[in-house]
Amino acid sequence: MRFFLTLKENGKVSFYPAGMMDKLDSGVISFLRAPLSLANIQVVQKRLQQERFAFWFKRSKAKDTKQQVLKIGKELGWDLQEFTWQDLDPTSGSGQDQQGDERAQEVGQAFSRLVKGRQLSCADLRGLARELKIEAEEIIKLAHSSVEQGSAQWIPAVKPHGSGWQCQRCGERDVEEWPSLYGMAATCQSCGSIGSSTSLEVLFRDQCSLLDGPSEVLFRPHWVLTEAQRLASEQVLEFIQDASAATALLWAACGAGKTEVCFPSAAWALERGKSVLFAAPRQDVINDVVPRLERDFPDYPLQVLTGTSPVKFRSGGMVLATTHQVLRFWRAFDVVFMDEMDAFPYHGSRALEWGLKHALRPNGKILYLTATPSPTGLKAVHQGEMRLIRLPARHHRTSLPVPIWEKIRHSPEPNEEGVWAAQIETLRGQGPVLLFVPKISWIAPWIKCLQRRFPDWRIDGSYSSDPGRAPKLERLRQSEFDLFVSTTILERGITLARIQVVVLAADHAVFDERALVQMAGRVGRTQESPEGKVVFMSQRMTSAMKTAIQWIEEQNRLALELGLIEA
Ligand SMILES: [Zn+2]
Repeated sequence: MRFFLTLKENGKVSFYPAGMMDKLDSGVISFLRAPLSLANIQVVQKRLQQERFAFWFKRSKAKDTKQQVLKIGKELGWDLQEFTWQDLDPTSGSGQDQQGDERAQEVGQAFSRLVKGRQLSCADLRGLARELKIEAEEIIKLAHSSVEQGSAQWIPAVKPHGSGWQCQRCGERDVEEWPSLYGMAATCQSCGSIGSSTSLEVLFRDQCSLLDGPSEVLFRPHWVLTEAQRLASEQVLEFIQDASAATALLWAACGAGKTEVCFPSAAWALERGKSVLFAAPRQDVINDVVPRLERDFPDYPLQVLTGTSPVKFRSGGMVLATTHQVLRFWRAFDVVFMDEMDAFPYHGSRALEWGLKHALRPNGKILYLTATPSPTGLKAVHQGEMRLIRLPARHHRTSLPVPIWEKIRHSPEPNEEGVWAAQIETLRGQGPVLLFVPKISWIAPWIKCLQRRFPDWRIDGSYSSDPGRAPKLERLRQSEFDLFVSTTILERGITLARIQVVVLAADHAVFDERALVQMAGRVGRTQESPEGKVVFMSQRMTSAMKTAIQWIEEQNRLALELGLIEA
């Protein structure tokens, strides 16, 4: 999107969306004939300010300003034949529409309500225009009038920063430079998956809070917290209420029900007019939380934004979003519950981390929830920068199954004679077996080999790019398999009755302690089958395996100390 650089009688240089010059506000006496990017206009504004400062705050006359602008343009390498001033009659131009009609007012109100706290690209705004059934030009006009009223800002999507650039949507500085009509321009690749971000484009940043103030919130939990959850829930609420704490980590045992622990705090915040975000790296986690929040907060409007939905606009103080979608908010949330901080694609992504932090309002709070904290999370806890809240026990008061190490002499090979076969057969006696392997290329040969060894069993397997993944997982949930071979895609977010777990080549570099704890955490999750076995099969015991076992044992020890599991 381009803007015209405008000049007012008092020498003030401003800008107006190109293509809308017939709606120029009064007082503009002249504009530059060729439109510019906002980044370019800001450079001119900055230079003018500096020059005026150099002349001891001398008030510039409009005529001087015109020349100054052209001089700056020349230095910036603009084609001066294109950049000439077009004078206007200041009395005739008043473009303020006589928006008397009700429909326009309604649309204006809907716009203000739906963009609260958002940071939107022009493509996002066009999406909103379609939703509001108005022309694209109309939405730009609404956005610009919010900017003029001071409740929003236009900012260049990628902006000069120091000697380089910085994307204003995701904070990325490692951007791609290219020559444009207006000198060098830059494109951010890090947040491209939610729409392009370049220095020639703008973002619309709304500065209104999501909620107008305190309101009554109907919170009807359909569950009773376990003793372990109640203890954690109280600490979460204390953290949310404590003005001095900014971040906390809820370290939960796998399958301990960490999400519901946050609901009372969410209700507390919403009632006080504080906006709440539930964020997670993956959309299946979000999709899993939605029905639970809908059930416990009946009538409360939820805004759900995941990868598959284009921009969806709803109002209300509770938002559920994948960490990519969070980039479409700016200083919007008082309380953030960030689930699975250690999971892909959030973990290790500077852009998504930056986005999450900037979606927080000043003095806002983030609670990270995980069963397997990242090294940075643990470090922050150890250094006293982050409060730690523990949830060490599952609802059925049975301890977490501690992995057993089955040492093997050679790297496991898919031939039927291996020692693994007897082990798997024994486990099958207790329930279906989930066999984790370190690589996709292992899946097919292992399925074949297992089918030969156990011809009566129903055996299959899957991996991330498997086209048949969804129906297979559905059958797995229905307990239709005796044995299922998988990569780490099944390490999280799945609960299977009576499941037993074997990790083949557990010493492989791909299995870090977090992956191992998550895989072990699939076992014993349900009330009906609270126990089960986890077997790590490998030649060596790696430090990741040791740490994983230590973490699980430590959760059990803590749970026992607190009287949260049976001895
Ligand atoms: Zn970016």
